[in-house]
Amino acid sequence: MGRHGIMPLTIALLLSAGPRTIAQSASSPSPALHYTLHVDHADTSGYSVTIHIDHAPHHFRLAMATHHEYDDRYWRFVTEFQVQAPASFTREDSAVWAINSPGEDALVTYQIRFPPPAPFHFSHRPFLTGHGGLVGDLHSFMYLVEDPQTVCRLALQLPVGWQAATAVDTTGSTAPQLLDAPILIGRLHRWQFAVAGTPHEVAYLPATATIDFDTTALISNIQKIIHAANNIFGGFPYHHYSFLLEDKSAGALEHGSSVTIGIQPSDLASAKPDVYSQIAHEFFHTWNLMHIRPAPYTDLNYGPQQQSPGLWFSEGVTMLYADLICRRTGLPTEDSTRIAHLTSLLTRYYRDTGNMVLLPGKVSLVSNLQPGPLGDYSASTHLQGELLATCLDILVRDATDGRRNFDEVMRDIYRRFSDKQPVNDNDIESAVTTVCACTEAHTFFENYLSKGKQIDFAPWLGKLGLQFHHDQQPATDRQGRPLPDTRIYSWILRDDTSVRIGLTNPGSCWALAGLHTGDILASINGRPIHTRQDFQAALASLSIRDDIIVNVKRGAEMAPHNVHIGGYTTPVIAITEDPAASPKQRRLFEQWRQSK
Ligand SMILES: [Zn+2]
Repeated sequence: MGRHGIMPLTIALLLSAGPRTIAQSASSPSPALHYTLHVDHADTSGYSVTIHIDHAPHHFRLAMATHHEYDDRYWRFVTEFQVQAPASFTREDSAVWAINSPGEDALVTYQIRFPPPAPFHFSHRPFLTGHGGLVGDLHSFMYLVEDPQTVCRLALQLPVGWQAATAVDTTGSTAPQLLDAPILIGRLHRWQFAVAGTPHEVAYLPATATIDFDTTALISNIQKIIHAANNIFGGFPYHHYSFLLEDKSAGALEHGSSVTIGIQPSDLASAKPDVYSQIAHEFFHTWNLMHIRPAPYTDLNYGPQQQSPGLWFSEGVTMLYADLICRRTGLPTEDSTRIAHLTSLLTRYYRDTGNMVLLPGKVSLVSNLQPGPLGDYSASTHLQGELLATCLDILVRDATDGRRNFDEVMRDIYRRFSDKQPVNDNDIESAVTTVCACTEAHTFFENYLSKGKQIDFAPWLGKLGLQFHHDQQPATDRQGRPLPDTRIYSWILRDDTSVRIGLTNPGSCWALAGLHTGDILASINGRPIHTRQDFQAALASLSIRDDIIVNVKRGAEMAPHNVHIGGYTTPVIAITEDPAASPKQRRLFEQWRQSK
C-alpha cells in the first residue's frame, strides 16, 4: 500500500504447473509464463498485459482464445502489441501472433482497449469504472499455443484500495484454467464461507457506495443453492468457487470455478424470481457444461467458434434443475407449480414449431450462432432439452417405481465423465439405462434424439396420472379481437448494418408471401427501413386484413412481396389430474409435484 496513494497494489498469484503435454529434453527447460495485468486508476479505457516467458522456445505463437458461447473476438481490441528485442513477431492471423525469440527469455506487452460502451453491459465482458471492473480470462490473456498446459503465474497491479476476487487458483493452474477465470476488481463487498468443507466466496461490485438490499438473505439463498447442487452430484468439481456479482450489468456466464452475474440491487430487494433461478442455472453449469463437457468441445481454440450437438443436455437439463433447485430450497420460482411451469414450456414448444420438427442435435449446433441456419423456423435448445429431460426423469421414476429420479443419472454421468472425455448422446442413453434398469431409454433416444420425432407428451404425463390436452385457438387480444400475425422479427448480421428479417414459422403470412429469414428489409409500404426501430414501428402499425408491400433484397435481387396480414392460432395447453389414476401414478405424481 503506497503512502503516496499512487503505488499500485500488486497481488501475486502463483499458479503451479499442470501435467505437461510436450516432452522437454534435459537440455531445454520447460517454458514458464509470468503474466502481469496492470490497471491504471486514471485510465478506464482499458488495461495492459505483460507476458514474460522464461525459457521461451525459439519459435512460438500466442493466441486469443475463442469462447464456445460468446465469440466476443477481443483480438480486435489488442493494441500496441510489442516484443522486446532481439525477438520479433508477425501477426499470423487475426487472433494469433507468431514470435521468433533467439534469446533465453521473451517479453511481450500489449494493451486491451475497450470498444465503445454498448446500451447495456454484459456481465462477462471486461469493463472499468472509477471504482472497479472486470478483467482477466480469455478477454485479456493470450495463451501459448504450442503448450497450453505450461506453468502460469499471474500478478495483478491494481489501484490502491482495490481488491480482486477470482477463481484463479493459487495451488495450480494452466492456460485453460487461467483463461476461464474472470477477475472482479475494485471496492468489493465480499463474503467467504465453506460448504461441505469447500471454500466459496461471493463478491459484489456495487455501482454506488451503499447497498440497499438484504445481503444476509442473498448469501443464505446462495448457500441453499450450493447445498442443493452438491446433494445432486455428491461432490464439488472445484477446490474453491467464486460468485462474481456486478451491479448495472446484464446476463451471466458460467466458468469451471466461478460465475459472473449481472444483478440489479432492486431485483434482489424485491426477490425477483429469475434472480435465483439464474444463479441456480449458472451454478449447475459448473458441473453440467464446464466439467461434464459436451462433445466435441475442446479446452482452448483460437479458430472459429466450436459447435456442439449436445447442448440440449448441457442447457436443457440445466434449465430443468434451475427450476428444481429453487423448488427444493423454497426459493422463488417463475411459475407457481411444476404443472404451471410445464404448461408454459409446452405452450412455447407448440408455438415455435421448429421445436417440434427440428432434430435437437441440429438446433443445438446452431444455438450460439446468428439466425439463418434454421430457415424460417425458430427453436430453442434450452426448451427442447428441458422437455426431453423432464420426460427422461419421468421414465426413470416410472421404471423404478419412484425409487430413483434423474438426479442419479446426473450423478452417474458426473462420476464417469467429469474432467475426462466429453459426453455424447450414447453416453447419456447408457447412463439412463443403467439407472432405470430398463430398455425404454433406447427407444426414447432413437425416436427423439436420432430420428427427431415430435414428442408425444400424453404417454409421459400419463405415467404420473396426468391428462394432457393441446388445442390451437385463434390468437386474440384481451377483448377477444383477433390479433394480426406478427410472427416476424428483425436482426442485424455481425459486422453489418442492414436490417434483416427473421421468421419463426413457415406457416406465417410473411412466409406465405415468399419472404425468408435473412432477407434484407428495404421498405414497408414505401417507407424505408433503416433501423430495427423503423421496423418495430411499421410492425406496430399493422392491423389484421391489411395488405402491405414489403421490399426486400435477397442476394443482388430486390423484389416486392405482397403480404396479406392474417390472424394466427396459438396453442392452449391444459394438464389435469386423471381422477382414475392408479395408486402408483398418484404416488409418482406426488413425488414429482414436490420436486423430490
Ligand atoms: Zn445456460
